[in-house]
Amino acid sequence: MNIENLEQVLDKEPGYRVKQVKQAIYVNLASNWDEVTVLSKDLRAKLNKEAPLDIKAEAFDSKKGNSSKVLITLQDGLSIETVLMKHSDGRRTVCVSSQVGCPLGCSFCATGQMGFKRNLTVSEIVEQVLYWARELKKHDERVSNVVFMGMGEPFLNYDNVLAAIRILNDGDGLNIGARRISISTAGLIVEIRKLAKEDMQINLAISLHAPNDALRTKLMPVNAKVSIRRLLKAVDDYIALTNRKVMFEYLLINGENDTNNHAEQLAKLMDKPLYMVNLIPFNPTQKYTSSSKKTINNFRETLESFGIEVSQRHGYGGDIKAACGQLAGRKK
Ligand code: SAH
Ligand code: SF4
Repeated sequence: MNIENLEQVLDKEPGYRVKQVKQAIYVNLASNWDEVTVLSKDLRAKLNKEAPLDIKAEAFDSKKGNSSKVLITLQDGLSIETVLMKHSDGRRTVCVSSQVGCPLGCSFCATGQMGFKRNLTVSEIVEQVLYWARELKKHDERVSNVVFMGMGEPFLNYDNVLAAIRILNDGDGLNIGARRISISTAGLIVEIRKLAKEDMQINLAISLHAPNDALRTKLMPVNAKVSIRRLLKAVDDYIALTNRKVMFEYLLINGENDTNNHAEQLAKLMDKPLYMVNLIPFNPTQKYTSSSKKTINNFRETLESFGIEVSQRHGYGGDIKAACGQLAGRKK
């Protein structure tokens, strides 16, 4: 699929045609222009050539049965991972990638370890959601939520991510509510401040993963430039402007960041209104292993004893965050 140049292709067409075409893509979820019989044969052929809708995807179902992953091959042959999570409350959450690889190089992250290839286009971001929307339509279901927690750092591809969100959010299109769309970031403060001024009701999640600068810089090299203090200052300013909750993601990595002392340090940082912590069990990689259930529970209880709001049910990302980057890594 590549609808990046759709406007140019439709350049000479009347306004109502543009409407028909958008309806075909985002409401009827066509996967080939030949299905769109309201358009002339010539225009269909032109669109199939210059703005194709077919998606090249290879499916991998997870063991648990409530989540599915696919590897999408892009037009230049690179591949990205996207995931669908089916929640018992009926939510259908798509986890999308924003880049091929990621330049931030977090030591625990498979995507970070594979390096950076390029940013995704708006069309490539939207394509991931359309893939699942088409799949769900077969069962009369639709995508309810979108999280930018796949491969890549969304704030390093800010403009395309925001443009894609506007398309997903469009009431005449997929119509996914802004409050049901979340961006997760390693903590780029310039973009956190920028997002605060967008006047969009989307959710912000911060990958924190460590309660002090020495440890955070070890796990997330980007912290050397930012520091936790400056990051939290940017988050506070974001909250002051938006009055929206911010979720701090904290992976529990065995022997690295999961002691009682870490929990106490974290509690001190998180003791603010509209802050909440999401504890994520770590999906083992070459370097690290996951904390035990007991350690995770102790960590949670310590946070709660300080009155911190904690979730462990993966409100935004679900179990699939655990697979961050690992699929595309496999193919490579
Ligand atoms: N770059 C952004 C968004 C993509 S990463 C960010 O870092 O927030 C999405 C989430 O997956 C992050 O919270 C990341 O820390 C997490 N993640 C990375 N590797 C993981 C692993 N091995 N197990 C579990 N979660 C992981
Ligand atoms: Fe990039 Fe996020 Fe992975 Fe860090 S955790 S390397 S920021 S994708």
